[in-house]
Amino acid sequence: MSRLIRAVIDGGALRHNIEVIRARAPGARVMAVVKANAYGHGLEQTALALPGADSFAVARLEEGVRLRERGIRAPIVLLEGVFTDEQLRAARHFDLELVVHDALQVELLAAAAPIEPPVLWIKIDTGMNRLGFRPEVFREAHRRLRELRPAPPAIRLMTHLACADAPDGQMTRGQLERFRAATRGIGGAVSIANTAGIFGAVPVGGDWVRPGLALYGVSPFARGSGRGELGLRPVMSLETSVIAIRSVPRGETVGYGATWRAERDARIAIVAGGYGDGLPRNLPSGTPVGVAGRIAPLCGRVSMDMIAVDVSAAEHAAVGVGTPVVLWGEDPPVETLARAAGTIPYELLCAVSQRVPFDLR
Ligand SMILES: *Cc1c(COP(=O)(O)O)cnc(C)c1O
Repeated sequence: MSRLIRAVIDGGALRHNIEVIRARAPGARVMAVVKANAYGHGLEQTALALPGADSFAVARLEEGVRLRERGIRAPIVLLEGVFTDEQLRAARHFDLELVVHDALQVELLAAAAPIEPPVLWIKIDTGMNRLGFRPEVFREAHRRLRELRPAPPAIRLMTHLACADAPDGQMTRGQLERFRAATRGIGGAVSIANTAGIFGAVPVGGDWVRPGLALYGVSPFARGSGRGELGLRPVMSLETSVIAIRSVPRGETVGYGATWRAERDARIAIVAGGYGDGLPRNLPSGTPVGVAGRIAPLCGRVSMDMIAVDVSAAEHAAVGVGTPVVLWGEDPPVETLARAAGTIPYELLCAVSQRVPFDLR
């Protein structure tokens, strides 16, 4: 039992999820977003498990280079583009497509001529106010990119949605309208939708979709789960096991801060896994934990290496040292834990710590 906690990655689920995404966005190409170490799932192994992706998107140059060095031949998009001439040359060398979201990047490309520019994605800020040209300056930036010599092989258009997960769709409709107005009469493939844009209330369309979270089988919405509502399968299962069983007499407390008190004589399972592995420390007592396929409540505070789970109920009678535990996966889904911790599943997935080994299933 030297490897108690591990993140089990289901490659079959990744391939299932990309097919579900294709069915939701018929005719669109899929740019698989694998930034942040593929949302904690392992950058290279995730890309290698997705031969069906039309391209990959990463945030940083180093991530794109790592994919090329592992033999990924599909197009790779740098979502934040490049910031120095050296990065531009590296992007060129590794054949990476660039997002251009800022006038400084246009200058960089113009100054670097005659280096042949890669495929460019010009980003329009339609209301998120993070990256992108505001509609009133977008045309000028686009004109300057068209004038690059040698000419880029393609200039494509993208924007990013701020509230695609909102049920009313109001912000999304406004952003789509601004995008249409800004790009009227300008050709080129279009990409707008992230996961929430693909599965959300407002039809977003576009020639390319950019799913991240859905690839990993997880829902971005405030309710439900990817498995329950979207037909996805969770890719990561954070698994461990019981390392001790204790009897806690009624009235005694469990864990740091003595925040949980036994209301009757309790049987408590101590489980290997804590905030040192990436479990949020603020999970409250009562948070569901999967013990031998059944749900049991967390009791007391999350420690660095351990949690305690109340297995007093009769259905947990067989639980003992070595019993397998699922911290998140099929049940409980990571969406449930994220809500219990007051955050989003993206953060939990990205936060699985370095010491947790990965198994590819
Ligand atoms: C991260 C990101 C995505 C993917 O978002 P999900 O919500 O995970 O689908 C798409 N586009 C851009 C620009 C991003 O930064």
